[in-house]
Amino acid sequence: MHLLFKDTGGTTLQTRVEALFEDQLQNWDLARANYLGLQKAVTKSLPFSPHAELRVQFNPERIYSTSAKVDSKSISERPCFLCPAHLPGQQKAIPFGEDYLVLVNPFPIFTRHLTIPIKQHSPQQLKGRFQDMLRLAKELDNFVVFYNGPRCGASAPDHFHFQAGNKGFMPIEQDFETPLKTLLFEDNGSTIHSIDSYLRQVLVFSGADTNWLETQLEKAIAVLGRFEPEHQEPMINILASWNHDHWRIFLFPRKVHRPWQFFAEGPQKIMLSPAAVDLGGVLIIPRQEDFDKLDLETIRDILGQVTLESEKWEQLKNAFKNY
Ligand SMILES: [Zn+2]
Repeated sequence: MHLLFKDTGGTTLQTRVEALFEDQLQNWDLARANYLGLQKAVTKSLPFSPHAELRVQFNPERIYSTSAKVDSKSISERPCFLCPAHLPGQQKAIPFGEDYLVLVNPFPIFTRHLTIPIKQHSPQQLKGRFQDMLRLAKELDNFVVFYNGPRCGASAPDHFHFQAGNKGFMPIEQDFETPLKTLLFEDNGSTIHSIDSYLRQVLVFSGADTNWLETQLEKAIAVLGRFEPEHQEPMINILASWNHDHWRIFLFPRKVHRPWQFFAEGPQKIMLSPAAVDLGGVLIIPRQEDFDKLDLETIRDILGQVTLESEKWEQLKNAFKNY
């Protein structure tokens, strides 16, 4: 298979991925140009509390992903860009487990940005794959692995994939260490926190037991599923990372995919399509005019639209409190 990377990077997934990056940035013009371009990306910081900030990244190459048409008609009419047969000729892959291919994302947000699809063309749905996410996060411990649900950020909702980006990029990693979090549950080294007054809602599961983590995630999905029983999976974005001796899972419950500003015409239009990285604290903006005008007030409004109503958020948190 010409797609497989003839790796020389040693024995761990982490070192092989480093070798893959080195190779792809040397031999694949599109990837090299876009990673070089990212070094010049302009970012602005918007602090919204003494302990937290949001960052805005102006990234014109992300226009395709941000504006991706993800309705079922558009999806069925385009060739799937994650199927191995349609990957660019220069792309190389490292297998992970039986099912997955680890790929350099040629349209990066992070200085190290991976796309990790399965080999088969099969829809985006987390059920049965969360343990894979944990395993990936542990093996790629310089990365945060993320999942965008099929109706809230995945630009290929028809082909299952994770992504991963280098640690130290999303503010939420640091914000979690501040007094912003509230302990909901604690048992035998495992904890559940919420982060409040944070413009978006997030539950944080920390622990070293994969079965316990999976049980918590399934419980959250069950509670959220009751709010939208007509769908197979409620709207969620997830970040997962391995931190020395435990996993940390950030779960963002969602209400809608895109804010009204996304669909507006003229000066009210803002092309922002929030997904896991945006909720992790880096808002990705492909148009200069949106980057220039985006302020904290507008972000507050947009995040308020796409995250859960407060009543449902309280119900979700209550499901995890130990009294
Ligand atoms: Zn596919």
